[in-house]
Amino acid sequence: DNSQPKKPSWIRVKAPGGQGYADTRKIMRDNNLVTVCEEAGCPNVGECWSQGHATMMIMGEICTRGCTFCNIATGRPDSLDAFEPGRVAHAVEKLGLNHVVITSVDRDDLADGGAEHFAQTIRAVRHRSPGTTIEILTPDFLKCDPSVLEVVVEAKPDVFNHNLETVPGLYPEVRPGARYFHSLRLLQRVKELDPSVFTKSGIMVGLGEDGQQVRQVMDDMRAAEIDFLTIGQYLQPTPKHHGVDRFVTPEEFASYEKAAYGKGFLMVSATPLTRSSYHAGDDFARLREA
Ligand code: SF4
Ligand code: SF4
Repeated sequence: DNSQPKKPSWIRVKAPGGQGYADTRKIMRDNNLVTVCEEAGCPNVGECWSQGHATMMIMGEICTRGCTFCNIATGRPDSLDAFEPGRVAHAVEKLGLNHVVITSVDRDDLADGGAEHFAQTIRAVRHRSPGTTIEILTPDFLKCDPSVLEVVVEAKPDVFNHNLETVPGLYPEVRPGARYFHSLRLLQRVKELDPSVFTKSGIMVGLGEDGQQVRQVMDDMRAAEIDFLTIGQYLQPTPKHHGVDRFVTPEEFASYEKAAYGKGFLMVSATPLTRSSYHAGDDFARLREA
């Protein structure tokens, strides 16, 4: 049965448009950069781009994994582009971003999973825009030697984000090829390697989990000393992707947020349209002022 629950009124998105959106789009095109905002069909693209927030995707548009919620093509990726870190840095400077989110496809084909490329990108952005805070949203480096993580952490991102995506019981159908406890341990190791780096993770809800399982994930994250949490409604990118089990109500999101602060997260975003990178810069600026 492919029938999907009807979208409720709180899932309303503004159509993209306006000068800020057009400018962001042009700078990305001019620098031959891919954004996850477009690739993932993110519902916030109009709002984010008109405010100069964007999430850039490095290391190509083809992923070696095939998560069932994700709209990115699976296949054999192209080789890495050595000029890409420079182009990202140029775009960040042109956009005048206070905070940038840099993410990538999963590169199981590379021995280091792309760790060195991430590090180079962080250094290039830092060099041209020393005032910009840098958040990376990384793959899990599952097939790599654990030491590759040190390469990324040594480049000193401000925020190290890696999403758990869903509760462990749904991994086989939602995130095949990934391991829940491996991803948790990755984030814990970031904190051990450099306690000054903020760690962040997120899940989608509405995939078939229940509230008890979500609260257990929060406890697991806190046990791994994860600082920031995002929870958002899963939306099906195309009918071929994992179905929406249900739409979680705004009241349930509010109760998740309250529970999460109670468990000690420093920053929580839990709303239907929360995405991993949604308002990440504003939240981070607020935290630094506090
Ligand atoms: Fe892009 Fe993130 Fe904003 Fe979505 S929430 S449009 S992915 S910056
Ligand atoms: Fe999409 Fe990331 Fe999964 Fe690749 S690893 S399919 S980019 S969610």
